[in-house]
Amino acid sequence: MNFDELTGRVSNHLISYQENEQQFIIDKDTLKAFKELKSRLKPFDINLSLVSSYRSFEAQKKIWNEKATGKRKLLSRTGETINYDSLSDLELIEAIMTWSALPGASRHHWGTEIDIFDSNIKEKSFVSLTIDECENDFKNLYTHLNQELLNSTFYRPYSKDLGGVSREPWHLSLKNKSDQYFNDYSLDVFIKNIQESNELVLKETILENANYLFDQYIQNITK
Ligand SMILES: [Zn+2]
Repeated sequence: MNFDELTGRVSNHLISYQENEQQFIIDKDTLKAFKELKSRLKPFDINLSLVSSYRSFEAQKKIWNEKATGKRKLLSRTGETINYDSLSDLELIEAIMTWSALPGASRHHWGTEIDIFDSNIKEKSFVSLTIDECENDFKNLYTHLNQELLNSTFYRPYSKDLGGVSREPWHLSLKNKSDQYFNDYSLDVFIKNIQESNELVLKETILENANYLFDQYIQNITK
């Protein structure tokens, strides 16, 4: 996988897909696996649907810069609001990376990652993607999904809180293909990506802590 594909700077290797009147960009094998999983869940009155798939570098940078400048709410690992002014630069980076990836370092750049919900329960615009929502509103989905995933080509890289990215049961990853991206996403790629990111807030502190951030938030997944 080349640098631009690894870091969300291009999407011409991916395809577009329309669902519930929304456009998504996604890897073709991931779409096929998603449709198979969707049809296996249908008999349980579940309409497996996408919250998001591919996200571009620029889209991720917008989220990052809004959080890094205090324009978007910051949440602790346990979901409480954090006071922006109380944080050092590194603490701010850690708080953002618990819930949002660095631009150029999101698995969603690869097209092999999807965030899912059950559109039989609510519309996408009402989905909050929280653990509480998974356990209550989407209980039916997660009960059956846990079974179906055993025979699926998907797995969950964020199924456990390992002190890096928080637990995200809704995030599914296409096993073999995302492993190729993961293996190619080296520390060198991580550092080059930050160096080549223009107008990235906290850039210097990210570079000073590159080894630690790479280990804690990129490499540290549930295998
Ligand atoms: Zn996700």
